[in-house]
Amino acid sequence: MVLEQFFAVSCCVPATDTFVVTSLIYFLTKRKPQPSMSDKMNEDRHDAYADIEAVKVPFDVAQCDGDSMYTYLPNWLNGLTDEQLRAPPMTPNTFQQYIRHSHLEATMGNSVRKMALNEDRLFTIDDFEFGRPLGKGAFGIVYLARLKKTKFICALKMLHKSKINEYSMAEQVKIETESGFKLNHPLILTMYDVFHDEKRFYFMLEYAPHGQLYRFLQKVRRFSDRLAASYIYQICHALEYCHSKSIIHRDLKPENILVDCCGNLKLADFGWSTKIRHADTMNTTACGTLDYLAPEIVGHKQYQYQVDNWCVGVLAFELLAGRAPFEGTDDETKSKIATINYKFPDYFSQPARRFIDNLLQKDPKKRMPLPDCIAHPWLQKNAYKYMFGPYKCPVYVNIDE
Ligand code: AMP
Repeated sequence: MVLEQFFAVSCCVPATDTFVVTSLIYFLTKRKPQPSMSDKMNEDRHDAYADIEAVKVPFDVAQCDGDSMYTYLPNWLNGLTDEQLRAPPMTPNTFQQYIRHSHLEATMGNSVRKMALNEDRLFTIDDFEFGRPLGKGAFGIVYLARLKKTKFICALKMLHKSKINEYSMAEQVKIETESGFKLNHPLILTMYDVFHDEKRFYFMLEYAPHGQLYRFLQKVRRFSDRLAASYIYQICHALEYCHSKSIIHRDLKPENILVDCCGNLKLADFGWSTKIRHADTMNTTACGTLDYLAPEIVGHKQYQYQVDNWCVGVLAFELLAGRAPFEGTDDETKSKIATINYKFPDYFSQPARRFIDNLLQKDPKKRMPLPDCIAHPWLQKNAYKYMFGPYKCPVYVNIDE
C-alpha cells in the first residue's frame, strides 16, 4: 500500500491540504527538565500499555559497563595526539564510504525490510518480544524489543492513534515515516519498518543503547572542545546528507540526537522535518523548540534549509556551555534570538567562538554552509574524523538464562 493510502486509511482523517495546514500551524515546544523514567511511566501506566506490560520481560541489554562511556569517550579523545586528529580532510563522500565500511547498521535496515518482504507480509506486534521501556514521547512509549524469530534487537516506538487524532498530528507521523524510509546513513537512526493495528502505529527503529545526547551532556555538564567538535562534525555530515535528500530536520537539539553503543551519534525524530522546496518556495510553518528557533522563524518569515545550520550553531554552544545561548523566559528568548543577543562564557576558545558566530547569523544567506563547517579550523583541529570505536558494545542477555 502506498504511504498516502496507508495514512488516509489508518488514521481515519482526510489527508487534505486544509487538514495539513491547520495541523501544522504553531507547534512550538518549550524545553522542560525531564522527569525520571519511572515518573513518566507511572503517568502513563493505564490500560494503554496493559497488554505489553503484562508480557514477561524476557531480555535486556547489559549496558556498556553502566555509564562508563561518559568517562571513557572524553578520556580516550583527550589521549589522542594533535597529529592523530589532523587526519586528512575528508570529503563527505569518503567519510560516508569509511563509515559505511566500518558500520553494519546502514545495510541492516535493508535486510530487515527484506526479511519482512520475503515473508510477503508486514510485521505485527505478535512478531516481537518486549524488554524495558526506553523512553516516552508526546504520543506514546518506546520499548526495547526483539524479533521472536531472529532475536534481532530494535526499539519499537508506539504511537496512539487516538492521541494523534486528538492533536491532529497525522501529518507528522506521515512525514516521520517518509523521511525515515528515505534516509539511509550511519549517523541517522534507521527506520526498519512501520506497521499499525487498530489502536497504534509502530515504528521499528534501530536501537541506540546510550539514549539521548541530552542525558550524556547532563551527566558531564559540558563537553570538552574535542568531544563537542567531534559530535558537531558528525551532525554536520548527517545534516548535509539530509539536505542532499531534500529534507530539512527543523528540530535539531540534544534531545533528538541519540547515542549508539560506541558513542557515535544517531540523528533521530524527523517528525518535524520537511521537504526542501524549490528555491523560490519557502516554508512558513512555525515549529521546533524555542531555544533552537532561527530568527526567521521567530519573525514569522519564510525560511529554507539554513534553519538547520542555525541549530548547529546553537547546538555547538550548548555542548560547550551546558546551556543554550538564548536561555530565558519565552519572551526573553524570542527577543534575544531576534536581536542575536548571546554572550560566550570566558572559557570558550577563539576558534569555537568564530565557528558559532559564523552560524548564528541573522541573515540565513550569510550563515556558514555545512561543507564550510566541516572544513572550519575548530572542527579540523579538534574533531575525531571517523566513527568512534571499537568500544565494548552492549551484550544482549536473556534474563531467563
Ligand atoms: P520519542 O518519542 O522518539 O521522542 O522517544 C522518546 C524517548 O525514547 C527518547 O527521548 C529516548 O530516550 C528513547 N528512545 C527513542 N528511540 C530510541 C531508540 N531508537 N533507542 C533508544 N532509545 C530511544
